[in-house]
Amino acid sequence: MKFRFVQHDSPLATAVFTFKAGSLSDPAGQEGISHYLEHVLLNASDKYPDEVAVSDAFARLGASTNGGTGSNSVCYYGTCRASKFVEMIDIHCDLIASPLLHDDAVERERTIVMSELKDGQDDAMSVFVDELLQGTLGWAPIIGRDTTVSAITAEQIRSHYAARYGLPNLMVTVAAPASVEDEIRDRLAGFGPTAAAPPPPQPAVDLEDMAIVRPSFGQACLAIVAPGAPGNGANFRENLVGAVASNCIAGPDFSLLFRRVRGELGLTYWIGAQTVRWPDAGVTFVASQFDPDLMDQVKQEIACVLRKAVDDGVPEETVAFAKDAMLTASASSCETSIGLARRFDMYHLAGAQGVPEGYDEYEDIMDGVSPADVDAYVKRAFAPMLDESASKTVTMTPD
Ligand SMILES: [Zn+2]
Repeated sequence: MKFRFVQHDSPLATAVFTFKAGSLSDPAGQEGISHYLEHVLLNASDKYPDEVAVSDAFARLGASTNGGTGSNSVCYYGTCRASKFVEMIDIHCDLIASPLLHDDAVERERTIVMSELKDGQDDAMSVFVDELLQGTLGWAPIIGRDTTVSAITAEQIRSHYAARYGLPNLMVTVAAPASVEDEIRDRLAGFGPTAAAPPPPQPAVDLEDMAIVRPSFGQACLAIVAPGAPGNGANFRENLVGAVASNCIAGPDFSLLFRRVRGELGLTYWIGAQTVRWPDAGVTFVASQFDPDLMDQVKQEIACVLRKAVDDGVPEETVAFAKDAMLTASASSCETSIGLARRFDMYHLAGAQGVPEGYDEYEDIMDGVSPADVDAYVKRAFAPMLDESASKTVTMTPD
């Protein structure tokens, strides 16, 4: 187990338990099981035998709790007044280390997971990105599919917990006043489920052109996908450079693509860029959503803006805007205990080097990101999108 204590002098304190057991650890045929387990894990233990007992225990402390599943990790977090914090940690530790995962609790939760699944299918962009990650990277949707979620058994959920929820896969991050640090360390010593299988190997990247037809959506979606640099949190500075570059190319109002295709031409409903990385591989893509008649025009405009950014570099002003926006977001996350506790957990789990210890270091690293760094990154990650033999196009249209 890795433990990180961030001193935060506020009346509130937060604990985050993060397991490196996200949807990429779903066994084949059980897609969605990591997310399903997140829904049922904190439902009962010997000490708190059902959901009402659990919610009463947290309610007595005024604690607010939640969980979340990503592709790499799943986390459980809780916030309450600092004076009640040690008691809240005890409840979390008990539920996480000895969950009951009863058949009937798993069955009851299935309806809720299925309705979340249906909600996601109403949104064109989330359906598109799921299909994109599935078709190019072999990634299943985090939430799973109708066929798998309806078939997952309580026994499979218990096995998944036993295989994935071990101390080597766990990072606990706490943001709280210094006065509780020693007590929290005592409480966490010796805590935890012990077994942990190593994460399964990642699927190989196999980029292909894809044309998806979904008559239910009136909008079209387009993504240009290129092989990206490996990393997955291995180098924090490099990840920051990548995030600055992506924000300069597509995304916020000041980005080059947003300014052109939405600001000047009014063509797109949404445009963004993302880099998805893991230790041995990665992809970068630019994706957009717009009226189906505009497909060719949007594609040409994206190519034009990317060509200019690759050939002439990203304007210094755009780099400055992106850095300032990210510094504001970072500073605002530092204002709350939950923001502080959730900041860097995945980098620790990835075994990262150069993890910032706090905001000061984040600011220092960000200050050191130069327009030349951004240009180099753009050449590496976005230039392949202009090469028809290296990049792939994924579309989703109504017909
Ligand atoms: Zn959920």
